[in-house]
Amino acid sequence: MYHQPVLKNRRTLLERAEKFISDVYFTDCNLRGRLYGESYPLESLSQFMSPKRITLMEAQTQSFTPYNVGDTFGPTWWTCWFKATLNIPECWRGKEVHVLWESDGEAMVWRDGQAVQGLTKEGEKTSYILSDCLTDEEPHSVTIYVEMACNGLFGAGNGSMIAPPDPNRKFSVQKAELVIFNREVRELMTDFEMLIDIVKELGEGEQRSYQALFTVNEMVNVSDPTDPSSFSGARSLAQNFFSQHNGQSQHTVHAMGHCHIDSAWLWPYEETIRKCARSWVTVIHLMKKNPDFVFTCSQAQQFEWVKCWYPGLFSEIQQYIKAGRFIPVGGTWVEMDGNLPSGESMVRQFLEGQLFFEQEFGMRCKEFWLPDTFGYSAQLPQIMQGCGISNFLTQKLSWNLVNTFPHNTFFWEGLDGSKVLTHFPPGDSYETKGKVEDLVKTVKQNKDRGRANHSVMLFGFGDGGGGPTQLMLDRLKRVQDTDGLPKIRMSSPDSFFSELWADSHLLCTWAGELFLELHNGTYTTQAQIKRGNRQCETLLHDIEIASSLALCQDTHFQYPVGRLRELWRLLLLNQFHDVIPGSCIEMVVEDALRYYEDIRRSGAALLQDSLSALVSKGDATSVFNSLSWERLEVIQIQDGPSNEFALVRVPSIGVNFIQETKPATAVCVTVQEDGSVLMENGIIRTVVKKDGTMASLHLISANREALSVGCCGNQFVMFDDVPLYWDAWDVMDYHLQTRRPVVEVVQPAHVLSSHELRGSVSFTLRISDKSTVTQEIVMDAMCPYIKFNTQVNWAESHKFLKVEFPVQVHSPNATYEIQFGHLQRPTHRNTSWDWARFEVWGHKWADLSEHNFGVALLNDCKYGYSVFKNTMALSLLRAPKAPDANADMGSHHFTYAIMPHAGTLQDAGVIQCSYNLNYPLRLTPSSSDMALWSAFSISPAAVILETVKQAEGRKGALLVRMYEAYGGGVTATLHTTLPIKEAWHCDLLEQTDTTQPACDSADGIILHFTPFQLRSLLLIF
Ligand SMILES: [Zn+2]
Repeated sequence: MYHQPVLKNRRTLLERAEKFISDVYFTDCNLRGRLYGESYPLESLSQFMSPKRITLMEAQTQSFTPYNVGDTFGPTWWTCWFKATLNIPECWRGKEVHVLWESDGEAMVWRDGQAVQGLTKEGEKTSYILSDCLTDEEPHSVTIYVEMACNGLFGAGNGSMIAPPDPNRKFSVQKAELVIFNREVRELMTDFEMLIDIVKELGEGEQRSYQALFTVNEMVNVSDPTDPSSFSGARSLAQNFFSQHNGQSQHTVHAMGHCHIDSAWLWPYEETIRKCARSWVTVIHLMKKNPDFVFTCSQAQQFEWVKCWYPGLFSEIQQYIKAGRFIPVGGTWVEMDGNLPSGESMVRQFLEGQLFFEQEFGMRCKEFWLPDTFGYSAQLPQIMQGCGISNFLTQKLSWNLVNTFPHNTFFWEGLDGSKVLTHFPPGDSYETKGKVEDLVKTVKQNKDRGRANHSVMLFGFGDGGGGPTQLMLDRLKRVQDTDGLPKIRMSSPDSFFSELWADSHLLCTWAGELFLELHNGTYTTQAQIKRGNRQCETLLHDIEIASSLALCQDTHFQYPVGRLRELWRLLLLNQFHDVIPGSCIEMVVEDALRYYEDIRRSGAALLQDSLSALVSKGDATSVFNSLSWERLEVIQIQDGPSNEFALVRVPSIGVNFIQETKPATAVCVTVQEDGSVLMENGIIRTVVKKDGTMASLHLISANREALSVGCCGNQFVMFDDVPLYWDAWDVMDYHLQTRRPVVEVVQPAHVLSSHELRGSVSFTLRISDKSTVTQEIVMDAMCPYIKFNTQVNWAESHKFLKVEFPVQVHSPNATYEIQFGHLQRPTHRNTSWDWARFEVWGHKWADLSEHNFGVALLNDCKYGYSVFKNTMALSLLRAPKAPDANADMGSHHFTYAIMPHAGTLQDAGVIQCSYNLNYPLRLTPSSSDMALWSAFSISPAAVILETVKQAEGRKGALLVRMYEAYGGGVTATLHTTLPIKEAWHCDLLEQTDTTQPACDSADGIILHFTPFQLRSLLLIF
């Protein structure tokens, strides 16, 4: 059947075929040149500029002025509304008619009041299909509106993608016309493309590659671009190739449409709402034309946005969800960062997400979906399982800079032993284009070949949205079962994971965190966002506890369900994986900080309301403790100059009025001859040198010096911080070679307070000619740690500020707090896996202990740590310039603390101290005869009561969440003075287990915990 002769020249045959569909070469005579037929100008095109994102209704009332194709407009972030009137020539009867629209901004087409199609040049969507096959009955005169955002798919970076946006960019429409689209040319071109790619991807080692080569060569021979009747011959040659089937053992690729939309990144939250609509309306359009097409879609927040702003589109989506084709995945409110949110925040991501999916779509997600986050906490498997999720999909560890992660399909075992079935799509992407290359990679790069015969391939433009295209679907359709390539099934996460579970006996297990060996700067970048997150997590915790107690105490008290949900959702939104990590543009930072301000302002009022309901009114002051242990602490009383400090004792989760308590030992502050200051409180003794460093940190009871011989603690150090590319994201290993201590004293250490309850010393250092640090070192009576209240004026460029404590502790591992627990990481650099963790994340504390002695470094809003050998360092501030040119510039306030201790960190109370540092005792006006009152207490101390809130949708019930914090199995007793009638175990979504009433005893509820186990109870009152 083939033309003769065919010489043995692979290269010329291949290039010949490539040129036949090239959009650069030979378009005068090749197939590509015939893709479009006749064109016809628009009847009229006019525009109107809006600085705001407005609705179609509003836009329609504006006055439009004529627009000529090629005219520029702007600036960045404005919206250009176009009104286009079209007249389709009658002689185009029977043709496929498109509006061809090429512009550098992202656009939405509106027709008859409805959003109908997204247009994005970078997402290969430049056509709006007016008619598949024009008939006389169809309207030939049509008016459409095009809402064009003055930003591209990736915002408006000035010069490179992650450069800060150019605020004055000009945009234009380069093409706007009616055209005839030759569908049969497109179909034949797709045949060609797939075969050419098979030739290239399978390579010279595969016979199948040569079969594709000769097929595609013969297709050129039989195709005459000027004669469409010749196409069928070429197409049937391709069809013969594609329909030669695979053997039974071939790998199966589960193809799923996807569109990763960052909830904010190089564009603000508001633009994301439109990105969702543009992407999803296009998905719905594709679904109507492709009955097999399945699309996976994460982030409840984005559904909520579309529900609110595009109700018509939302109800269409609901129908396709019902049909099982538009599939909500992930179960979370947003695709959050996997490291920094607290344990309770992680739970709420799932709670808000799953409840939303349940309410809107009558379903819950069975898989967690987080393809693009910078590492995954070891506590996630337990949290997933508690939220009804046993499967997990991501791929980000393919970004590791040092070590190659050894699995694609495996069981991931968390801190407590919970396991989830985990899959990393071997194509190492969440936005493939459905090409042969992606299919081949899915098999070749699969590190579990033979163990697992199924993999996922996600296709569709992502990050900035866009999603799948018809072309991607056409590609996949051709090679569903073609010898030489894996089998392709249009599939859902559910059917994929079911296949994996059914044949999972050979899979390996990875225990512990999934640490990403990249983007370690995100633990520190945008310090104000980190601080906002920590403070708001703390505030919401306190409001929920105080409101829960008020609910039981005061029958008139209304639990602020709606308001709390709004505030939680703002906090959860800011935990998105480009916001809390600080890898976003300045506009997003401003939005995020405003949301934190909303939470602080509304939260303060809610907290005050609930505290007022808890205590009787009067002129005295009471103190509220939201933590589950008694606290004895020095507090500052706002007014009253003679008695500005008080030592107060407050019971666990309870209140007490302020009454004088005398310390066992008063704080003693002495200026020594050399100008250094000696501070002592009976527990620790320290010497602060004139330059603010500590010459000594002595634990009195153990008679142990905590600082390394000849070294100073509290040493500020600066590093050069120039990454390879990802500025806000990355701190590289080589920054450690540029260490420079901060030594220039502006104001030497001097005594600020020498009260018997609080001693403090202050000093100021010059960091550079642009930046200074002022610090107050605070020692409180009865307190086992020293606080460092720090203020930094920061105006650096590509520098990294840390503070170091070289300690007299020898240990191969340091311990770091994570969500509901802690884990260890090495302090040495034996292997590449060890040294790749030169900068790590932790929450409220890190600890370095040897047998019977250790030192803990606590913080109130930081997340970056490094412990190498015996030097503990806390990362304080960075100064990246992209994508936010002003990241972290300005004034910063933060507190850290150092705590030497005897025994283990658990026995010494490091965990409780870190909570005390983060959760201030709250003062509220009350009567002076307030009786001391505790609502809950729990013993032993290993179990921490983290959360008390009103149960979801149940007014007469409280949800109480506890976890085992020490890492050992224990039986605990929860005691409450609240009028509780019944107690039931429940999961993290607050579903009671009716087979498990909590075990009651005379002392309280008895609970068994395994190491780091989370347990939740519903208490009915
Ligand atoms: Zn992302």
